[in-house]
Amino acid sequence: MNQYHVKLRCIRRGASSTTLALLGLLRSRHRAPNSPAKTLPRRTALPLPVPASAPPSRAFPLRLSPPLSSPPSRVSIRRRLLRLRPRSAPHSPPIMSSSEVVIPNPESLEKKKGSMRNGGRSKLQVIADFDGTLTRYWYNGSRGQTSHGLLQQGNPEYDAKREALFEYYHPLEISPTIPIEEKTKLMEEWWEKTHGLLIEGGLTYDAIKKSVTEATISFRDGVVELFEFLEERDIPVLVFSAGLADIIEEVFRQKLHRSFKNIKVVSNRMVFDENGRLVAFKGKTIHVLNKNEHALDMAAPVHDKFGDLNGSNDDTTLVKKRTNVILLGDHIGDLGMSDGVNFENRIAVGFLNSNVEKSLKDYCNTFDVVYLNDASMWGVVELVSELCPLDD
Ligand SMILES: [Mg+2]
Repeated sequence: MNQYHVKLRCIRRGASSTTLALLGLLRSRHRAPNSPAKTLPRRTALPLPVPASAPPSRAFPLRLSPPLSSPPSRVSIRRRLLRLRPRSAPHSPPIMSSSEVVIPNPESLEKKKGSMRNGGRSKLQVIADFDGTLTRYWYNGSRGQTSHGLLQQGNPEYDAKREALFEYYHPLEISPTIPIEEKTKLMEEWWEKTHGLLIEGGLTYDAIKKSVTEATISFRDGVVELFEFLEERDIPVLVFSAGLADIIEEVFRQKLHRSFKNIKVVSNRMVFDENGRLVAFKGKTIHVLNKNEHALDMAAPVHDKFGDLNGSNDDTTLVKKRTNVILLGDHIGDLGMSDGVNFENRIAVGFLNSNVEKSLKDYCNTFDVVYLNDASMWGVVELVSELCPLDD
């Protein structure tokens, strides 16, 4: 019996989160850093110890989405996708279960949907985090890699140093008990030390390409369909990440094998010399907790470049005029990504990937929709299809 099966048994027996965390820690310690993913069953098949049946309280009106819309039936989503993608066959049928989605305030969500539907697609934009949001949290039973974590700079000494930083700082990043100010300083430390090691260790662009090829990173099911849907309707997507833009764009190239004209990446950008060797980073460091601080000055140039996706200069089509926002994130700090937009309406969708029991309440106080259990992106596809019907 491996540790995964022990964990599964514990979940079935209602083991405490501490026990599960301990098992997770043991499992991660037994995994060599950056080792290939083990062929374990996908974690999404596990029943989650989340309060899907928890009684709602007045102080915390946790409610699952209403029976008529949650979960969206396989038939209804297939019909929608057939409408969205009339020239191609639908992909494997999406399945969303009620244990994967929590809608804290259905009335508020419906109101926002109505306002955004009335605004039309010309006012809509999507702002999305990358790691753990567009990408899966789990990869074949092990923690999937991030755009930072996948990087092997071809220098074992420096790879080990960055791994040691991860082992130290990541538990602090996901800790629900560290005050935000203290955590922000810790994240600044982590990012700056990591970027320094990348330069000092002589990272090359070739090493980035090789790292992405070998990485245990994958997009959530439904991400491609979401991008296609948005691209067909000229709805811009701003991928706002505390990772590394050069790596994210390489992941898009290698894992999706295509590009989307409506997607722009705002993240930490590298500067390479004529030999393809990293020499510096552009601009201010974006880490997981300061996306709000830099949202305006980092996003504005990208917005200006967007212009009209159809080539005209009509101001109404500029991204900065798009005041209805769908925000996708996996961290409460991701809410700051929309600070650069003076939005009229915002639907915030959160992917709660870890510390579910401890963090669910905070996520429900922050996001309009919370996905659990490393859910797919099909629910968001459903959402945008509601906001932008075919005849819009
Ligand atoms: Mg993230």
